Amino acid sequence: MEQIKIFDIMTKSKKPKLTSVIDKSNGVTWCAYCATPVKFIKDKEKGVKVCSICGISLNDYWNKTINRINI
Ligand SMILES: [Zn+2]
Repeated sequence: MEQIKIFDIMTKSKKPKLTSVIDKSNGVTWCAYCATPVKFIKDKEKGVKVCSICGISLNDYWNKTINRINI
């Protein structure tokens, strides 16, 4: 039986709202979970950029998709 980690549950329970297209020209990054343009700040502990509101990583699949990172 596969062990379920609390992080998996937290991640899956959030449903991204892919409702708007980001305008990257103003330097703002779109958070798929907050469904609003937010500032992504560097998390020293994790070494990644995270949403300043909900704390989701910019490396999250939906945030990558909506911001067209590495695709
Ligand atoms: Zn967010």
